[in-house]
Amino acid sequence: MPHIVVLGAGVIGLSSALHLQSTGHTVTIVARDFPSGSETIDAQAQINYTSPWGGAHNRLVPPSSAAEECEHAMSLRTFDHMRAVQTRHPEAGITFMKGIEYLEAPSPAYLALSEERARTELGMRGFRPLGKAELPDGVEWGCEYETWCVNPMVYCAFLLRRFAILGGRVLRREVRDPREIFAWAFEAGPVDVLVNASGVGFGDENVFITRGQTCLVANPCPATVTRQNADGSWTFCVPRNFDGGTIIGGTKEPNNWDPNPSPEVRETLLRKFAATYPQILDREGKFTVMKDIVGRRPTRKGGIRLEKETVDENKTIIHAYGLGGRGYELSWGVADGVAQLLSEHLESSTSWYNAQAGEAKL
Ligand SMILES: Cc1cc2nc3c(=O)[nH]c(=O)nc-3n(C[C@H](O)[C@H](O)[C@H](O)COP(=O)(O)OP(=O)(O)OC[C@H]3O[C@@H](n4cnc5c(N)ncnc54)[C@H](O)[C@@H]3O)c2cc1C
Repeated sequence: MPHIVVLGAGVIGLSSALHLQSTGHTVTIVARDFPSGSETIDAQAQINYTSPWGGAHNRLVPPSSAAEECEHAMSLRTFDHMRAVQTRHPEAGITFMKGIEYLEAPSPAYLALSEERARTELGMRGFRPLGKAELPDGVEWGCEYETWCVNPMVYCAFLLRRFAILGGRVLRREVRDPREIFAWAFEAGPVDVLVNASGVGFGDENVFITRGQTCLVANPCPATVTRQNADGSWTFCVPRNFDGGTIIGGTKEPNNWDPNPSPEVRETLLRKFAATYPQILDREGKFTVMKDIVGRRPTRKGGIRLEKETVDENKTIIHAYGLGGRGYELSWGVADGVAQLLSEHLESSTSWYNAQAGEAKL
């Protein structure tokens, strides 16, 4: 069996590594950052490791282009896999719960969303448009549906533990270029194929970061709630469960490298969320703030890079990065894509080798 190295231990690297391992491959994960507990993680030192700072919930995005259709299919695949993992491993950090969407200025794609279309065409469960009386002030359209969210620290640590107990190897290293890895000596043998799940890729001019400031509060919440404001800003909460509190968010700021949370932004986020969903406040009408969070979504013009590349004439890299704000939502769909690209590659190499062997015999 070929030896596959996955570069990256964020949600994309971990999901891909587990998926490849489950199809019988020998897999090693190489990464600079690995999951660690939320109490001890160094927010500033690991700001470029996005996965700990994600919400992370699965949201309804009605597709209105071919690329969005493709992402939607990945999100459905992830939904089903999350359900299976949650059933088998209640400790994995996944919770299924109600998702609520509020839109101040809904696009035609949302307005056209009937229960019938949501269920049959979009494959959504429990979809129900909300009546006018159920909407907060200023909201034009709303719905609820069944969804999931994860506590990222618990979930990513779970994926890594599963990978290790199933025989996967891990190596903490920082690389300048993924091609370095082809020259390394591994116990498991030379590297046949490398999966680049580094979040931002290496020198890809299309990649940029989208800063997100959120605030972790101790207040529990029974639903994930998202409000798209008419000015383009977002107001949301993601319950993390597993003693992880609730994330109140959040900003989306392309190319903003500021690592420091702004106290003014925190106040605005909390005030807007309390106005949208006052049920989250405690008996005294307050939030219990635990900490501010700043993360960098690995965004890419043109969307996710999920493709195979041949480098240095005969080395193969499968790229899986640039997930922006949807890394968790699409993770198992991306892992499927990686596995498919790998199997196509191995089939074509096998036939090439067979052809060579055949020629030699002749
Ligand atoms: C505020 C915020 C809210 C979000 N909310 C959601 C949400 O609700 N739902 C959702 O689906 N997504 C959400 N996201 C996005 C999600 O967190 C990301 O899409 C996802 O974490 C990206 O994962 P990744 O594995 O691609 O990258 P990362 O998590 O960044 O992992 C990259 C890995 O590559 C390694 N690496 C990189 N460079 C090198 C190198 N040179 N040498 C060695 N190793 C290297 C790193 O160490 C790390 O292990 C949110 C993000 C933010 C910031």
